[in-house]
Amino acid sequence: MPAIQKFVVTPNLPEPLQPLLDIARNVWWSWNVEAINLLRRVDPDLWDQHEGNPVAVLGSLSTERVAVLLKDTAFLAHLERVRGDLDRYLSRPTWFQNEHDNISGGRVGYFSLEFGLHESLPLYSGGLGILAGDHLKSATDLGLPLVGVGLAYQEGYFRQYLNHDGWQMEGYTANDFYNMSMNLELDAEGNPLTIEVHYPGRTVAARIWRVQVGRNPLLLLDTNLPVNLPEDRELTARLYGGSEDMRIRQEILLGIGGLRALITLGLEPTVCHLNEGHSAFLGLERINLLMKNQGLDFDTAFEVVRASNVFTTHTPVPAGNDQFQPDLVRRYLTRKADELGIGIERLLAFGRQNPGDDRELFNMTVLALRLSRSVNGVSELHGHVSRGMWQAVWPGAPLEEVPISYVTNGIHTRSWLCTEIARLYDRYLGPRWFEDPTNKTIWDRVDTIPDAELWRGHERMRERLVGFVRGRLRRQLRKRGANRTWIKQAGEVLDPEALTIGFARRFATYKRAALILSDPDRLDRILNDPERPVQLIFAGKAHPKDHHGKELIRQLVNLAQEDRFSNRIVFIEDYNIEVGRYLVQGVDVWLNNPRRPLEASGTSGMKVPPNGGVNLSILDGWWCEGYQQDNGWAIGAGEDYEDHAESQAYQDDVESTALYDLLEN
Ligand SMILES: *Cc1c(COP(=O)(O)O)cnc(C)c1O
Repeated sequence: MPAIQKFVVTPNLPEPLQPLLDIARNVWWSWNVEAINLLRRVDPDLWDQHEGNPVAVLGSLSTERVAVLLKDTAFLAHLERVRGDLDRYLSRPTWFQNEHDNISGGRVGYFSLEFGLHESLPLYSGGLGILAGDHLKSATDLGLPLVGVGLAYQEGYFRQYLNHDGWQMEGYTANDFYNMSMNLELDAEGNPLTIEVHYPGRTVAARIWRVQVGRNPLLLLDTNLPVNLPEDRELTARLYGGSEDMRIRQEILLGIGGLRALITLGLEPTVCHLNEGHSAFLGLERINLLMKNQGLDFDTAFEVVRASNVFTTHTPVPAGNDQFQPDLVRRYLTRKADELGIGIERLLAFGRQNPGDDRELFNMTVLALRLSRSVNGVSELHGHVSRGMWQAVWPGAPLEEVPISYVTNGIHTRSWLCTEIARLYDRYLGPRWFEDPTNKTIWDRVDTIPDAELWRGHERMRERLVGFVRGRLRRQLRKRGANRTWIKQAGEVLDPEALTIGFARRFATYKRAALILSDPDRLDRILNDPERPVQLIFAGKAHPKDHHGKELIRQLVNLAQEDRFSNRIVFIEDYNIEVGRYLVQGVDVWLNNPRRPLEASGTSGMKVPPNGGVNLSILDGWWCEGYQQDNGWAIGAGEDYEDHAESQAYQDDVESTALYDLLEN
């Protein structure tokens, strides 16, 4: 069981340095170059040691260092500047105020099992969380009144490392919330505020952490409290770690507990946004509250709630959607069903495509579909796929009338953009590219950036990526106990001037990480071309239970160790936001070759073009909309193949050949 940390470290800074804490405690710093530079400047060694976590840096500053900073007038001026930037950011008129003043009293509660804001807040696993993080950042930039709701995982998602044979191993490190950009919500007496949720025979308490994201808070529930049973304290231990029983309790906590946290803090939402179906139980609690507080009957309350729930579905594979055994739902939700006056069997029917089939599992996506009037997939193609997948929920509706639309995912550009290119945009586009990012006339000025300057910036980023990879490889090998010659070789791997292709994503089977390796001799000729060398950088985790994904990593790492590839193919362990940032900023080409149409959207590829890189991708997810003949390459022409082994082998053959052809030509 995770330990409970009782000590609270509040960095004790003298008055003139106090603003550093305000800056460090607002994640706004993470997408503002001047703020990042300032926080690093506080103590560059500590910054590296704490992996870019400014709160931890401020908590471990020596008195000598504090004294030096106090006398450093240039530093103090820098601090003053950033402080002013933050104040202006928080008080400037926003797009939302300008455009939507009439609904200024509204508030969105945005519920997600994971949020990826920065590597120093490891509370995410992958795309779903990164999207949620970017969503929060964009919301505050726009002035949208939106509050995030999630869980505060003591150990987050697993950290990946490889053994000698290239086999993925999983490790967990405990998060020290007190030394992260998080603050505990306290009551008037200074005690932690808690909310409760009910499980059979007991209530479970959760305290609430607040992460400040610009103007808006993100609230994270934490059940690791002595009043709770050990198995309930484990609820917020790990992301996607437990059994089905653990998962349903986590989802009750997120949906019902999350809503209670909002209400307790006076932040009751007018609209709830469900980022994936995990939080769908919140709909039941909203209905319950309307019945209790406003005396509505169930059916009326249901319609009112439905009208103000928004649901984004992400998963185009049936198995990827959470389903529970009916008995498990009976165990945990009978009391709620009785409270609602509908009985558990009717509640179960809300989670079934065919409400009359009592053998059907209880599906969280189906529940979310029924409880939300506005439903969207995450790309145009995925909207189409989702309508087909869930057509049975609307019996008799023709495919194109199934009420699922799409909103293509996006990114918070500033978070993924390198400083060099951001400066070029400042210089040639003016500062409004950042404040008004959807204004196309501003982006048209991109053509005024001289090619040579753009290329120089890009080359510097590629060099920085190669340096970063070498450092990481050396560290990996040292940890693995490799011999010195190897470690030394790792310091010279890759070529800062070679065409660099990046491939980083979960090692799920459908993403086909090994497609480009399917003909090693042909790949050898491409990578080791004496005139035009090419190199490949891979990163990504396989789910701990995904044996096949781990096998892919092992094959890749072993291939990379062959002499002909050892300087041309590398695998970086422990893919996270930091690794992602270096990659999307430094690569020339971003490769994506999923089995269409299983990449619902994919956002990593969107991070590359603003940095001057180019996509090379199957026409799947966002790339169907993004690809325009002259802005990158499409592998294939958007063909769909049958879903069985023989056809898939044929598909792999056709598409790997197309990929090699593109690279060769
Ligand atoms: C952007 C990003 C993702 C999501 O990208 P996909 O294209 O869906 O793989 C996942 N992990 C990290 C670290 C990212 O930065």
